[in-house]
Amino acid sequence: LCRLKSMLALVTGGGSGIGRAISKRLSLEGASVAVVDLDIGSATDTLQLLSHNFPEQEHAAFAADVSQAHSVSTLMKQMQARYSIPPRIAVSSAGITKDEFLLHLSEDSFDSVLNVNLKGSFLITQAVARAIVASGQNGGSVINIGSIVGKVGNLGQANYAASKAGVEGLTKTAAKELARYQIRCNTVLPGFISTPMTDKVPQKVLDKFAGMIPLGRLGHPQDVADVCAFLASNDSKYITGASIEVTGGLFL
Ligand code: NAD
Repeated sequence: LCRLKSMLALVTGGGSGIGRAISKRLSLEGASVAVVDLDIGSATDTLQLLSHNFPEQEHAAFAADVSQAHSVSTLMKQMQARYSIPPRIAVSSAGITKDEFLLHLSEDSFDSVLNVNLKGSFLITQAVARAIVASGQNGGSVINIGSIVGKVGNLGQANYAASKAGVEGLTKTAAKELARYQIRCNTVLPGFISTPMTDKVPQKVLDKFAGMIPLGRLGHPQDVADVCAFLASNDSKYITGASIEVTGGLFL
Protein backbone atom coordinates (compact mmCIF):
# COMPACT_ATOMS: atom_id res chain seq x y z
CA LEU A 1 0.00 0.00 0.00
CA CYS A 2 1.31 3.44 -0.89
CA ARG A 3 -1.44 5.63 0.50
CA LEU A 4 0.87 8.34 1.85
CA LYS A 5 2.98 9.20 -1.20
CA SER A 6 4.29 12.81 -1.09
CA MET A 7 3.04 13.34 2.47
CA LEU A 8 5.22 14.61 5.32
CA ALA A 9 4.66 12.93 8.69
CA LEU A 10 5.95 13.98 12.10
CA VAL A 11 6.20 11.16 14.66
CA THR A 12 7.15 11.94 18.27
CA GLY A 13 8.63 9.19 20.38
CA GLY A 14 9.87 7.84 17.05
CA GLY A 15 13.06 6.48 18.58
CA SER A 16 11.44 3.51 20.29
CA GLY A 17 8.62 1.00 20.53
CA ILE A 18 5.32 2.09 19.04
CA GLY A 19 6.66 5.38 17.60
CA ARG A 20 9.41 3.52 15.76
CA ALA A 21 6.93 1.01 14.32
CA ILE A 22 4.67 3.88 13.20
CA SER A 23 7.62 5.64 11.53
CA LYS A 24 8.45 2.44 9.64
CA ARG A 25 4.86 1.84 8.56
CA LEU A 26 4.28 5.42 7.38
CA SER A 27 7.52 5.30 5.36
CA LEU A 28 6.43 1.99 3.82
CA GLU A 29 3.29 3.80 2.63
CA GLY A 30 5.39 6.47 0.89
CA ALA A 31 5.50 9.27 3.47
CA SER A 32 8.60 11.26 4.33
CA VAL A 33 9.01 10.87 8.08
CA ALA A 34 10.41 13.36 10.57
CA VAL A 35 11.40 11.13 13.48
CA VAL A 36 11.28 13.18 16.68
CA ASP A 37 12.59 12.05 20.05
CA LEU A 38 14.15 13.38 23.22
CA ASP A 39 16.92 10.89 22.50
CA ILE A 40 18.42 11.89 19.13
CA GLY A 41 20.55 8.73 19.03
CA SER A 42 17.52 6.45 19.02
CA ALA A 43 15.71 8.69 16.51
CA THR A 44 18.73 8.45 14.21
CA ASP A 45 18.73 4.65 14.64
CA THR A 46 15.09 4.59 13.48
CA LEU A 47 16.11 6.33 10.24
CA GLN A 48 18.09 3.23 9.24
CA LEU A 49 14.87 1.18 9.38
CA LEU A 50 12.74 3.39 7.14
CA SER A 51 11.70 2.55 3.58
CA HIS A 52 12.62 4.56 0.51
CA ASN A 53 10.07 3.54 -2.09
CA PHE A 54 9.94 6.87 -3.91
CA PRO A 55 12.74 9.26 -4.96
CA GLU A 56 11.06 12.20 -3.20
CA GLN A 57 10.98 10.46 0.18
CA GLU A 58 13.28 12.22 2.63
CA HIS A 59 13.46 11.13 6.25
CA ALA A 60 15.16 13.06 9.05
CA ALA A 61 15.70 12.80 12.79
CA PHE A 62 15.08 15.71 15.16
CA ALA A 63 15.75 16.09 18.88
CA ALA A 64 12.93 17.75 20.80
CA ASP A 65 11.33 17.68 24.22
CA VAL A 66 7.61 17.67 23.49
CA SER A 67 6.81 18.88 27.01
CA GLN A 68 8.50 22.25 26.37
CA ALA A 69 6.82 24.85 24.16
CA HIS A 70 10.14 26.42 23.14
CA SER A 71 11.50 23.03 22.07
CA VAL A 72 8.42 22.28 19.95
CA SER A 73 8.65 25.73 18.40
CA THR A 74 12.33 25.16 17.51
CA LEU A 75 11.39 21.77 16.04
CA MET A 76 8.76 23.33 13.78
CA LYS A 77 11.27 25.94 12.55
CA GLN A 78 13.85 23.23 11.83
CA MET A 79 11.26 21.16 9.94
CA GLN A 80 10.12 24.18 7.93
CA ALA A 81 13.75 24.91 6.98
CA ARG A 82 14.30 21.32 5.94
CA TYR A 83 11.07 20.51 4.11
CA SER A 84 9.35 23.85 3.23
CA ILE A 85 5.96 22.16 3.63
CA PRO A 86 3.98 21.54 6.84
CA PRO A 87 3.56 18.00 8.18
CA ARG A 88 0.00 16.94 7.33
CA ILE A 89 0.33 13.82 9.47
CA ALA A 90 1.30 14.19 13.13
CA VAL A 91 1.53 11.27 15.53
CA SER A 92 2.21 11.92 19.21
CA SER A 93 3.66 8.70 20.58
CA ALA A 94 6.18 10.22 23.01
CA GLY A 95 5.16 9.08 26.47
CA ILE A 96 6.45 8.10 29.87
CA THR A 97 5.27 6.28 32.98
CA LYS A 98 6.21 7.00 36.60
CA ASP A 99 4.21 4.46 38.53
CA GLU A 100 3.41 5.10 42.20
CA PHE A 101 0.36 4.25 44.24
CA LEU A 102 -1.88 7.25 44.78
CA LEU A 103 -1.12 7.43 48.50
CA HIS A 104 2.57 7.95 47.67
CA LEU A 105 2.30 9.72 44.33
CA SER A 106 4.60 12.73 44.33
CA GLU A 107 3.83 16.06 42.73
CA ASP A 108 6.94 15.64 40.56
CA SER A 109 5.80 12.28 39.18
CA PHE A 110 2.34 13.64 38.53
CA ASP A 111 3.61 16.77 36.78
CA SER A 112 6.24 15.07 34.62
CA VAL A 113 3.84 12.40 33.31
CA LEU A 114 1.16 15.00 32.57
CA ASN A 115 3.74 17.28 30.93
CA VAL A 116 5.06 14.70 28.48
CA ASN A 117 1.89 12.71 27.73
CA LEU A 118 -0.80 15.38 27.79
CA LYS A 119 0.91 18.75 27.37
CA GLY A 120 3.24 17.21 24.76
CA SER A 121 0.24 16.05 22.69
CA PHE A 122 -1.33 19.51 23.07
CA LEU A 123 1.81 21.34 21.95
CA ILE A 124 2.33 19.09 18.91
CA THR A 125 -1.36 19.16 17.90
CA GLN A 126 -1.42 22.95 18.16
CA ALA A 127 1.92 23.48 16.37
CA VAL A 128 1.04 21.21 13.46
CA ALA A 129 -2.46 22.67 13.11
CA ARG A 130 -0.98 26.19 13.07
CA ALA A 131 1.52 25.18 10.38
CA ILE A 132 -1.23 23.67 8.21
CA VAL A 133 -3.51 26.70 8.62
CA ALA A 134 -0.61 29.08 7.90
CA SER A 135 0.14 27.20 4.66
CA GLY A 136 -3.27 28.27 3.36
CA GLN A 137 -3.99 24.71 2.21
CA ASN A 138 -6.42 22.67 4.29
CA GLY A 139 -6.14 19.00 5.22
CA GLY A 140 -4.33 16.90 7.76
CA SER A 141 -4.50 13.99 10.18
CA VAL A 142 -3.50 14.28 13.84
CA ILE A 143 -3.15 11.01 15.71
CA ASN A 144 -2.59 11.02 19.45
CA ILE A 145 -1.63 7.85 21.27
CA GLY A 146 -3.77 7.49 24.38
CA SER A 147 -4.17 4.27 26.31
CA ILE A 148 -6.92 1.93 27.39
CA VAL A 149 -5.67 2.80 30.91
CA GLY A 150 -7.18 6.27 30.43
CA LYS A 151 -10.59 4.60 30.25
CA VAL A 152 -10.32 1.92 32.93
CA GLY A 153 -7.52 3.09 35.26
CA ASN A 154 -4.67 0.90 36.46
CA LEU A 155 -3.05 0.26 39.83
CA GLY A 156 -0.13 2.62 40.38
CA GLN A 157 -0.97 4.74 37.34
CA ALA A 158 -3.21 7.60 38.53
CA ASN A 159 -0.89 10.09 36.82
CA TYR A 160 -0.66 8.06 33.60
CA ALA A 161 -4.40 7.31 33.45
CA ALA A 162 -5.22 11.00 34.01
CA SER A 163 -2.81 12.02 31.25
CA LYS A 164 -4.28 9.53 28.77
CA ALA A 165 -7.91 10.40 29.59
CA GLY A 166 -6.84 14.01 29.02
CA VAL A 167 -5.41 13.13 25.62
CA GLU A 168 -8.85 11.87 24.52
CA GLY A 169 -10.61 15.06 25.62
CA LEU A 170 -7.93 17.19 24.00
CA THR A 171 -8.19 15.26 20.73
CA LYS A 172 -12.00 15.32 20.57
CA THR A 173 -12.01 19.08 21.10
CA ALA A 174 -9.28 19.53 18.49
CA ALA A 175 -11.41 17.43 16.10
CA LYS A 176 -14.35 19.81 16.55
CA GLU A 177 -12.30 23.00 16.24
CA LEU A 178 -10.07 21.91 13.36
CA ALA A 179 -12.73 20.22 11.20
CA ARG A 180 -13.23 23.52 9.33
CA TYR A 181 -9.64 23.14 8.10
CA GLN A 182 -10.25 19.49 7.17
CA ILE A 183 -7.79 18.45 9.86
CA ARG A 184 -8.99 15.17 11.36
CA CYS A 185 -7.95 14.31 14.93
CA ASN A 186 -8.21 10.84 16.41
CA THR A 187 -6.93 8.95 19.44
CA VAL A 188 -5.54 5.43 19.32
CA LEU A 189 -5.85 3.52 22.59
CA PRO A 190 -3.36 0.66 22.75
CA GLY A 191 -3.84 -2.09 25.30
CA PHE A 192 -0.80 -4.06 26.38
CA ILE A 193 1.94 -3.78 23.76
CA SER A 194 5.43 -5.37 24.08
CA THR A 195 7.90 -2.45 23.92
CA PRO A 196 10.79 -1.08 26.01
CA MET A 197 8.08 0.65 28.11
CA THR A 198 6.68 -2.71 29.19
CA ASP A 199 10.07 -4.50 29.33
CA LYS A 200 10.32 -4.25 33.10
CA VAL A 201 6.94 -5.86 33.72
CA PRO A 202 7.50 -9.26 35.41
CA GLN A 203 6.75 -12.35 33.32
CA LYS A 204 4.03 -13.37 35.80
CA VAL A 205 2.13 -10.14 35.11
CA LEU A 206 2.67 -10.50 31.33
CA ASP A 207 1.17 -13.99 31.47
CA LYS A 208 -1.77 -12.69 33.50
CA PHE A 209 -2.49 -9.96 30.95
CA ALA A 210 -2.09 -12.33 28.01
CA GLY A 211 -4.66 -14.60 29.66
CA MET A 212 -7.12 -11.69 29.88
CA ILE A 213 -6.85 -10.78 26.19
CA PRO A 214 -9.57 -12.41 24.04
CA LEU A 215 -7.29 -12.55 21.00
CA GLY A 216 -4.88 -14.51 23.18
CA ARG A 217 -1.62 -12.58 22.91
CA LEU A 218 0.06 -9.32 23.90
CA GLY A 219 0.11 -6.63 21.22
CA HIS A 220 2.99 -5.85 18.86
CA PRO A 221 3.96 -2.24 18.05
CA GLN A 222 3.07 -3.14 14.44
CA ASP A 223 -0.57 -3.71 15.49
CA VAL A 224 -0.78 -0.05 16.56
CA ALA A 225 1.21 1.19 13.56
CA ASP A 226 -1.21 -0.46 11.11
CA VAL A 227 -4.14 1.46 12.61
CA CYS A 228 -2.16 4.72 12.55
CA ALA A 229 -1.41 4.24 8.84
CA PHE A 230 -5.15 3.84 8.22
CA LEU A 231 -5.94 6.99 10.24
CA ALA A 232 -3.20 8.92 8.44
CA SER A 233 -4.56 7.88 5.05
CA ASN A 234 -7.56 8.95 3.04
CA ASP A 235 -9.18 5.60 3.78
CA SER A 236 -10.31 7.15 7.08
CA LYS A 237 -11.46 10.42 5.49
CA TYR A 238 -14.80 10.44 7.33
CA ILE A 239 -13.37 9.56 10.76
CA THR A 240 -12.61 12.35 13.21
CA GLY A 241 -12.87 12.63 16.99
CA ALA A 242 -12.79 8.85 17.29
CA SER A 243 -10.97 6.78 19.89
CA ILE A 244 -9.92 3.45 18.46
CA GLU A 245 -8.98 0.68 20.87
CA VAL A 246 -6.12 -1.58 19.75
CA THR A 247 -6.19 -4.04 22.61
CA GLY A 248 -6.96 -7.51 21.26
CA GLY A 249 -10.23 -7.09 23.18
CA LEU A 250 -8.64 -6.44 26.62
CA PHE A 251 -11.25 -4.98 29.05
CA LEU A 252 -14.04 -5.55 26.54
P1 NAD B 1 8.79 3.65 24.63
O1 NAD B 1 9.30 3.96 25.99
O2 NAD B 1 9.31 2.46 23.92
O3 NAD B 1 8.94 4.92 23.66
C1 NAD B 1 8.63 6.21 24.09
C2 NAD B 1 9.58 7.18 23.38
O4 NAD B 1 9.20 8.52 23.77
C3 NAD B 1 11.05 7.01 23.77
O5 NAD B 1 11.85 6.91 22.60
C4 NAD B 1 11.37 8.28 24.54
O6 NAD B 1 12.72 8.74 24.39
C5 NAD B 1 10.39 9.27 23.94
N1 NAD B 1 10.13 10.39 24.84
C6 NAD B 1 9.93 10.36 26.18
N2 NAD B 1 9.78 11.60 26.66
C7 NAD B 1 9.87 12.45 25.61
C8 NAD B 1 9.81 13.86 25.47
N3 NAD B 1 9.62 14.65 26.53
N4 NAD B 1 9.95 14.40 24.24
C9 NAD B 1 10.17 13.61 23.15
N5 NAD B 1 10.24 12.26 23.23
C10 NAD B 1 10.10 11.69 24.44
O7 NAD B 1 7.19 3.53 24.82
P2 NAD B 1 6.08 2.87 23.88
O8 NAD B 1 5.62 1.65 24.54
O9 NAD B 1 6.52 2.83 22.46
O10 NAD B 1 4.91 3.95 24.04
C11 NAD B 1 4.57 4.85 23.02
C12 NAD B 1 3.24 5.50 23.38
O11 NAD B 1 2.23 4.51 23.48
C13 NAD B 1 3.25 6.22 24.72
O12 NAD B 1 2.47 7.40 24.63
C14 NAD B 1 2.61 5.22 25.64
O13 NAD B 1 2.01 5.85 26.76
C15 NAD B 1 1.57 4.62 24.72
N6 NAD B 1 1.08 3.32 25.14
C16 NAD B 1 1.92 2.26 25.26
C17 NAD B 1 1.41 1.02 25.66
C18 NAD B 1 2.27 -0.19 25.80
O14 NAD B 1 1.76 -1.21 26.28
N7 NAD B 1 3.53 -0.16 25.42
C19 NAD B 1 0.03 0.90 25.95
C20 NAD B 1 -0.77 2.00 25.80
C21 NAD B 1 -0.24 3.21 25.40
